Amino acid sequence: MFVLKFGGSSLATGARFAHVARLVAAQFASAPTAVVLSAPGGVTDLLVEAVDATTTDAAAPTLHAVRSRFDSIMNVLASEYPAFDREALARAMAPDLEAMERLLVGATLLGQCPDDVYARVVSLGERLSIATMARVLDAMGIANATIDAQRMLLAHGSPREARVDLDASSARFAAAPVDAARVQLMPGFLAGDAQGRLVVLGRNGSDYSAAALAACIGATECQIWTDVDGVYTCDPRLVPDARLVDEMSYAEAMELSYFGAKVLHPKTIAPIAQRQIPCRIKSTLDPDAPGTRIGPTVANDALPVRGLSGLGNVTMIGVSGPGMKGMVGMAARVFAAMAQAGISIVLITQSSSEYSISYCVPTDEADRAEAALRDAFELELRAGLLDPIDRRDALAVVSLVGDGMAAVRGVAARFFRALAEASVNIVAIAQGSSERSISAVIDDAQRQRAIKACHQRLFDARPTLELFVLGAGNVGGEFLAQLQRQQPYLEAQGIRVKVVGLATRSRSLLNADGIALDTWRDALEASTEGWSFDAARALVDANHLVNPVIVDCTSSAAISDASVAFLDAGFHVVTANKKANTGSMEQYRAIRTTAQRHRRRFLYDTNVGAGLPVIENLQNLLQAGDALLGFQGILSGSLSYLCGQLDDGVPYSVATLDARAKGFTEPDPRDDLSGTDVARKVLILAREAGYRLDLADVAIEPLLPPGFDASGDVEAFLARLPEADAYFAARAEDAAARGAVLRYLGAITDGACRVSLVEVPTHDPLSQVKGGENALAFTTRYYTPRPLILRGYGAGAAVTAAGLFADVLRCLAWRQEVA
Ligand code: ADP
Ligand code: ASP
Ligand code: MG
Repeated sequence: MFVLKFGGSSLATGARFAHVARLVAAQFASAPTAVVLSAPGGVTDLLVEAVDATTTDAAAPTLHAVRSRFDSIMNVLASEYPAFDREALARAMAPDLEAMERLLVGATLLGQCPDDVYARVVSLGERLSIATMARVLDAMGIANATIDAQRMLLAHGSPREARVDLDASSARFAAAPVDAARVQLMPGFLAGDAQGRLVVLGRNGSDYSAAALAACIGATECQIWTDVDGVYTCDPRLVPDARLVDEMSYAEAMELSYFGAKVLHPKTIAPIAQRQIPCRIKSTLDPDAPGTRIGPTVANDALPVRGLSGLGNVTMIGVSGPGMKGMVGMAARVFAAMAQAGISIVLITQSSSEYSISYCVPTDEADRAEAALRDAFELELRAGLLDPIDRRDALAVVSLVGDGMAAVRGVAARFFRALAEASVNIVAIAQGSSERSISAVIDDAQRQRAIKACHQRLFDARPTLELFVLGAGNVGGEFLAQLQRQQPYLEAQGIRVKVVGLATRSRSLLNADGIALDTWRDALEASTEGWSFDAARALVDANHLVNPVIVDCTSSAAISDASVAFLDAGFHVVTANKKANTGSMEQYRAIRTTAQRHRRRFLYDTNVGAGLPVIENLQNLLQAGDALLGFQGILSGSLSYLCGQLDDGVPYSVATLDARAKGFTEPDPRDDLSGTDVARKVLILAREAGYRLDLADVAIEPLLPPGFDASGDVEAFLARLPEADAYFAARAEDAAARGAVLRYLGAITDGACRVSLVEVPTHDPLSQVKGGENALAFTTRYYTPRPLILRGYGAGAAVTAAGLFADVLRCLAWRQEVA
């Protein structure tokens, strides 16, 4: 006989009921069948609410809601099956429903709900489901009978969370064998105690009922039909990329469900494992799919890790104190106290040394656990041999499960690294004695994020970056275009880069699924919202994004000032904005320590030399023990162009206007001509080399004649530019007379930074650098007397965007480095 269990999600509406009835009929046509049903989804919650209500007035509406759920289910069934006897069903249900009202009135008068009343009320949904299914099968002309679970399944323990006595129940079934010629229907969730009183098996317990029935009658297979295709590597509602697992062992399934995978009730596996009955998890939405097979062994065993689960609402309890050392049998006494109080221990952490024992319990049992400990150790606590009991609430357990883990090295390391990368603080760790599971105790608030991060590292070959691109002008726009072009390449590399946020000064877009890169301009144009960091952070939190990256393509001081806040909130920061690195030394240090603390990247290779790999190279050298002795360079693309023009005798004002028309300069050319931009770059290099300097320490000679009036608006300034022509023509001539050309150089000499217009002899390689090129000459302990030279275009949207792109991908490269 096959045992098929259908969960609440599969019975939520009349249409689904009818669908389940057809599945049952199909199964019964090929083999004897028993069916275990849950209450329609949400009904048990309503009933629990009714029991918890303190007045009958409060309970009435929830009971009414239960009635109307069944009314609408019956309506659909009546319209689908002409032979469906709605009246007979309503009559059959009436006594049970009426009893509810009386029971609830009684409970509210008593001010508490006795266990048997609780059991009767909360299991009503299951009984009504079975009554309904019986009438549907009748209407379909399928012979059926109902198993009285209260009489047949004997259960012990808490009447709200009872355990089925398999041997005794099997004996009952052996004495009164079920009739294979009829579909056997049994309500899930409920059983009877030794006195024949009704008990329930704990929330979500219908899976367990089905497993117990399968074990008792020696079923061919136990099938758990639900709303997902089987057991996934992780809850698919949380991680859409979770993968379906074809096969898993009993032990793995047990461990996964125990640590919170809701798809199976934790007690489900034991009965069927004990009797070696195969189990299959199947979807009512896709009945032909094979689902997940759970059995004694697994044929395809390539994966060391089978799944990942999370269990919330956990409390950690710690017992410690000076008296613990040498006190024999402490652990035994602690756990005996828990066992006596009927408290389930979720896990015992490995921190238990001679001096302390820590373990986790479900939070709703924590008060009782504490009280039981206080009772058991009253004397020791009073004598100060034990410290006051330590309790920490609002925790969760995230667990990694797999039979193969014991044999494969490095799995635990990847697990903990993933948690660290997601900035999840680990409170405690534990490993199953079988090495089949590793668990980390963490803050409950971080549970979903932790699971996503771990799943990505352990199962997903495709790491994801979620970008917030700030500034969609020249550089930002080009960056987005490059990203769009590179998508197929990234896809092939197994990397997913999504733009989830986009902002200009006045508008912004947020979309956790990714903003379409071909239509972002229109979408942004249509937006009425401005950028809000809080909104971005809320998006990251709500979607548990693992690798959010701020890509700053602005020159905004407000954005650069928020760098520490970005990093603090778990974002990586990739910036083309030089202001973050040229603010105060405190800010500079804070950015780096914050990034380190949160294991986030702060990358700014485009700050100097645009796309040229300047910062990375310099850092690599310094890390290898090199030291910067001196630096000289042409660091501005626009001024490189301008100086080249002066070589050729072009007047200064003409060259400046030309550079501006070609888009080399900032819209206001004074931003370039003032020398501040070059000064920022020199400062960034100097700080990189370890000098503690501020922008004010950089000596700047602007590329303007001394005393030149640079005031007024852009047009007024540009109109005055020809007044400077003679000055620069004369300087260029003087230089030429000495066999030199004028170059605007940034330099670091003995720790002093200087930006100025310098005569460079024509035999010096820097004299050749013009037309928008940059050149950087680093004299270092290793590179001396000939400096290390980096040369190439150092400005322009295309190379800058490409540099940003490289930094963005380095956020992942680092992830692999630490793997
Ligand atoms: P039913 O009503 O059929 O008993 P449940 O809601 O109790 O269904 O269980 C199915 C749900 O379990 C799925 O919808 C899914 O969100 C959740 N779930 C949690 N972990 C897993 C997992 N590892 N694999 C599949 N589903 C899981
Ligand atoms: N209906 C019960 C509950 O919701 C049992 C079950 O669905 O498994 O907890
Ligand atoms: Mg369930």
